[in-house]
Amino acid sequence: MASETEKAQTAQPGGDTIFGKIVRGEIPTKFIYEDEQCVAFNDIAPEAPTHFLVLPKKPLTRPAETEDSDEQLLGHLLIVARKVAKDVGLADGFRITINDGVKGGQSVYHLHVHVMGGRQMGWPPG
Ligand code: AMP
Repeated sequence: MASETEKAQTAQPGGDTIFGKIVRGEIPTKFIYEDEQCVAFNDIAPEAPTHFLVLPKKPLTRPAETEDSDEQLLGHLLIVARKVAKDVGLADGFRITINDGVKGGQSVYHLHVHVMGGRQMGWPPG
């Protein structure tokens, strides 16, 4: 089983992704939140007792390739992250992470916000 770092180093930027298929309903996935702009679902390999992802339906690839015109959508993802974190009981705090590119540890090139909580987070991250 490849580590997350190995996955990030071998991931191919661009093209369709597993998250694109999930957003389009081609891979059945239980959404814990959905609106016209984004969805949220639990991470398949959680790094914390609670670990969910928020991603835009628009297939933005990575933070480094967003545009000024994505400002509203990117802000919306954080607002949804906050609402879902509250709904799932992360009242004591949570970690929001958006990985970018190889060095940032991104393995799926459909931009997504990680929200992790339910344990004490350390700093700095690995
Ligand atoms: P990143 O490394 O930032 O690109 O994060 C990708 C995340 O997607 C990892 O935490 C994976 O565990 C998660 N993941 C990959 N495939 C799925 C899936 N089918 N359903 C839920 N989470 C997934």
